Amino acid sequence: MTAPPSSAVPPAAPPPPPPHAPHREDCPWCGSRRLRSSPRRGPVPGRPALVVCRDCRHAFRNPPPSPGLQRPEGRPVRFRHRLAVRAVLRHCGEPESWLDVGTGDAELPRTARRFLPYTAFDGLDLTHRVLRARAAGHVEEAYVGRLTDPHITARLRARYDVVSLLHLDRSPDPRAELRAALHVLRPGGHLLVDTADPRALLLTAPTARPATRLRTELTAAGCTLLTTPTGHRVLARR
Ligand SMILES: [Zn+2]
Repeated sequence: MTAPPSSAVPPAAPPPPPPHAPHREDCPWCGSRRLRSSPRRGPVPGRPALVVCRDCRHAFRNPPPSPGLQRPEGRPVRFRHRLAVRAVLRHCGEPESWLDVGTGDAELPRTARRFLPYTAFDGLDLTHRVLRARAAGHVEEAYVGRLTDPHITARLRARYDVVSLLHLDRSPDPRAELRAALHVLRPGGHLLVDTADPRALLLTAPTARPATRLRTELTAAGCTLLTTPTGHRVLARR
């Protein structure tokens, strides 16, 4: 085997994903087009405007962050992951199977494994980073795509004890994603959703507000809510 000549030009790296998804004219939660700028938060230089839906009061950044963009990492994120895992442990004991949706490099399963050494973690992500996570042994099975993709939902039907949705704010259709998450939970399984800004250690409104709509949606779907109504973290039993 011959080494490539030293003057060989390395292949160009793929371009990074755009930081933002396209600007939205409608509310991701209810589809209403009656949007207004948030009166509480003025525009922050370098950050997309925060807009509020006049019909359901869902607040979101517009344009929203790109779903394929690398998520924030670091100590605040790991701290939030630890709290989320402890909440699961407290309410449902040690699950056998857990699907982390939007797992990226499997940060959550890596943190969770210290508390749940016998749980089998699978990961789903829009990017191929989840395949790297599987190759590194951080998840057992890796799925590339959206939870709402019919072939993924059908394949994973009623399979998991726990499903975590920690990036619901990046979903173009959060309600459809919630329904898909319930679909892949076994009866009696637990859904974990965290609506807080993962970079913020302290909870700040209005990023916490979607929890109200989440609770309403989950109750309507027949789930039992296990967490207090004031928090940003929602744990529900199917
Ligand atoms: Zn709305």
